[in-house]
Amino acid sequence: MASVKVAVRVRPMNRREKDLNAKFIISMEKNKTTITNLKVPEGGTGDTGRERTKTFTYDFSYFSADSKSPSFVCQEMVFKNLGTDVLKSAFEGYNACVFAYGQTGSGKSYTMMGDAGDAGLIPRICEGLFSKISEKTKRNEASFRTEVSYLEIYNERVRDLLRRKSSKTNNLRIREHPKEGPYVEDLSKHLVQNYADVEELMEAGNINRTTAATGMNDVSSRSHAIFTINFTQAKFDSEMPCETVSKIHLVDLAGSERADATGATGVRLKEGGNINKSLVTLGNVISALADLSQDATNPLSKKKQVFVPYRDSVLTWLLKDSLGGNSKTIMIATISPADVNYGETLSTLRYANRAK
Ligand code: ADP
Repeated sequence: MASVKVAVRVRPMNRREKDLNAKFIISMEKNKTTITNLKVPEGGTGDTGRERTKTFTYDFSYFSADSKSPSFVCQEMVFKNLGTDVLKSAFEGYNACVFAYGQTGSGKSYTMMGDAGDAGLIPRICEGLFSKISEKTKRNEASFRTEVSYLEIYNERVRDLLRRKSSKTNNLRIREHPKEGPYVEDLSKHLVQNYADVEELMEAGNINRTTAATGMNDVSSRSHAIFTINFTQAKFDSEMPCETVSKIHLVDLAGSERADATGATGVRLKEGGNINKSLVTLGNVISALADLSQDATNPLSKKKQVFVPYRDSVLTWLLKDSLGGNSKTIMIATISPADVNYGETLSTLRYANRAK
């Protein structure tokens, strides 16, 4: 089993890129994504010896960003390809984790939360969960309990997004339960009965997220947001009561741009470093997991001792029991199609490539 599924999603050109007369440099065919460096002349590598195009293969490449008739994959398709897998795992009792990685403005929030009237993965997964629950409840197959929590990691500190701001909820501790794995002490959990309950909590949490102006983007997200669904099914198996618990983590990561690219200094720079610490560790963790799963499929390979550095960052420690093992892990790398973002886009494609 591949340990991590990777999808790359291109967004349409934005106003700024159009105003700059930017060129499309991404093309996709089936599961291949190709990026073109327009600074390198066609047919040659130029003086620098660099290649003009680089091609990467992922599980999904969304979608033919043809400069003449761009056709971008819709939210429904992303849910069908990736979200339904997450739901299936949850009902089978496995944990799942979906995260969106990419530079600020590349479409992470759009992919995870969505826009008004164009719901993203999180609302669609929640809706799907409740529609399946009501089907199963009608057939008396099991009884269900669903709780959600919503937190933010900012500067390696954990904050509850579903509680009023107070110093007590600003710096929560992570602990590790010997059986149930890592958890956040004192994080509020909210029992939800239907999709409307979830929607209300999501809205409240989104308003609470930390955002601040950087040189790159007026309001850019510099925190990692984790929306977690704790899902318990109780049924009778051969007359014995049995309970299955699964967790779904849905993560909107902070912008992946380097602090130096935004002209950040002082406090911002420190934040940049911390944000990158989580992102760098996440990259190391998923690449270690990819090594492990390759090892497992190759009967001739000697069992390697691969160390997975979960505890090197708050983000990876918290997600530990939902990354690798029997969990379903999905990474969605979001990118801009424009030449003006070449450097950041290439770095996102490389990051995503390490997950395989
Ligand atoms: P990020 O969360 O990575 O900073 P956003 O999700 O806020 O970026 O996206 C930036 C802008 O681009 C938003 O206005 C969003 O609606 C738009 N956008 C992003 N991805 C898409 C897409 N796939 N299709 C249409 N619009 C998109």
